[in-house]
Amino acid sequence: MKWLYILKKKILFIILGIMSVTIIVTMLFIALMLRNSMINESKIKSQEISSAVQTTLSSLMMTRNPDLLQNTIEKIGKDNYSASKAFIINRDGKVIYSSDKNIIGKNLDKKSDASCLACHGKSSMPSENTTIINVNGQKLLRSVRVIFNEEKCFGCHAESDRINGKFIIDHSLKSTYLLISYIELIIFASGIFCIIILIPIFSRVLSREVNRYIDEIIHQNRELNLLYTMIERLSESIDLEELKTIVIEIIKDSLNPDEINLIFHKAGDEYRVNTWSKQNGVFSRKKIDKEDPLFATINDWRKGEINENSRSKDHKIIHMPIRTSDTNIALITLRRIEDSFENLPQKLVDIMSSHISVAFENAHLYHIAITDELTDLYTPRHFRASIVERFVDAKKLGSKLSLLFIDIDDFKMINDKYGHMVGDLVLKNVARHILLSVRDNDLVFRYGGEEFAVILPSTDYAMAYQIAERVREDIAGYIHEKDTLNINVTVSIGISVYPDDADSVRDLISTSDKALYRAKETGKNKVV
Ligand code: GH3
Ligand code: MG
Ligand code: MG
Repeated sequence: MKWLYILKKKILFIILGIMSVTIIVTMLFIALMLRNSMINESKIKSQEISSAVQTTLSSLMMTRNPDLLQNTIEKIGKDNYSASKAFIINRDGKVIYSSDKNIIGKNLDKKSDASCLACHGKSSMPSENTTIINVNGQKLLRSVRVIFNEEKCFGCHAESDRINGKFIIDHSLKSTYLLISYIELIIFASGIFCIIILIPIFSRVLSREVNRYIDEIIHQNRELNLLYTMIERLSESIDLEELKTIVIEIIKDSLNPDEINLIFHKAGDEYRVNTWSKQNGVFSRKKIDKEDPLFATINDWRKGEINENSRSKDHKIIHMPIRTSDTNIALITLRRIEDSFENLPQKLVDIMSSHISVAFENAHLYHIAITDELTDLYTPRHFRASIVERFVDAKKLGSKLSLLFIDIDDFKMINDKYGHMVGDLVLKNVARHILLSVRDNDLVFRYGGEEFAVILPSTDYAMAYQIAERVREDIAGYIHEKDTLNINVTVSIGISVYPDDADSVRDLISTSDKALYRAKETGKNKVV
């Protein structure tokens, strides 16, 4: 799930990148707009001033007082109305009046004079009457008004005379540009503040929020994996004993308890309690003494007081009753010694418990399906499946496989003499003796009415014979007691061994059967 964090980083990086670019572009846009509007504002003002001054100058011209005109121009040029310079040129470019007395009478050449080149330097004539010019590195706002041969001039000048001059007024843009620079500085400073301070804070908050969701996804994914693995492992076996081992392993791995108790009801007041306890990180079986509080828990469970998954107030103990719709199958209790189960979601425990219940119920049903009710041995149907399975295993592993057929001698007579009830008791006793005489890995079946079969995996003839003799002797030496009756029965046993006597399942069964028949024919109570 590391990729989720990498993806988050990439997305955050892109978002923050877009934000930074947006801030920069917005800043530039605002600065540009501000600059344009301030300069436009200055232009408009300059135009207004120029118009006003032009009107004033026109009136003054009528007085025909050149000194007054010169005086006025000088006043205008002395930073009045923020103008830095004002002058009038005639149509030949000669300066007639000027706020700068030094240039009066000077002929301005529009092709070489720096002041003229600012406007005339380009190939075409300036179209605007107010424009920004650059004279010797200084930005000026220049307003130019053309003086024509107007009607009011006719008093002094003949109408046919051509009067043409220009009134030029320059405004310094120094303070405007200074103001623009200050405002731009503030805008850029706020932009940089956003990028350096606000964006990292925003990214940290966003990252923390996204992390929370990622953690949640990872957590849920882990739970799903846990459940998936659990379901997979629970379906590995339907055998009740194997299932118990699997359940214990699952709980050890996924819930990490310090102690696990698995309690099964046996019969009446009897319970089977298996306890695993963790010491130095390793689980081992533990015997619990009579004082252990577990017995109180078992008592509550027996009384039906633990019907649902529950946990102690300090979250150190969890009870998981494993039950079908109507019966209690088992009780699992988990304990943590040092820390607690506080962070373990109850939902997870509930889901686990319901899956374990279903698995146990299936195993329980399967156990009923393959178990003979009277003798508690496996059924003939299960024999047919098991013998094929073991035969295939033996063939694959190249090991031997022995099969015993056991039949009670003259059993009909027991039934006839003592009745069916006694017959059933004898059957049960014989079944128990067979089970006790064979090894843990051997499988015992009730094959027919008073016939039994024993599959002995990885067993040669000598060992099979030894086991068969042990069974025969054990049964022959046992007295079945019922009320005042003391009954003794014997059994006959036929053996066959794969691959010595048979090379197929069918052969193995028929050879054992024939051997049993021979044992019966040659006097009973014997192994053939
Ligand atoms: P043999 O030594 O040749 O095996 O003689 P047998 O009498 O044991 O053999 P037979 O097949 O003639 O009789 C088997 C008897 O087992 C017949 C049947 O009534 C009895 N039987 C089969 N199943 C049960 C059962 O579940 N309970 C009881 N009580 N008897 C059973
Ligand atoms: Mg018999
Ligand atoms: Mg028989």
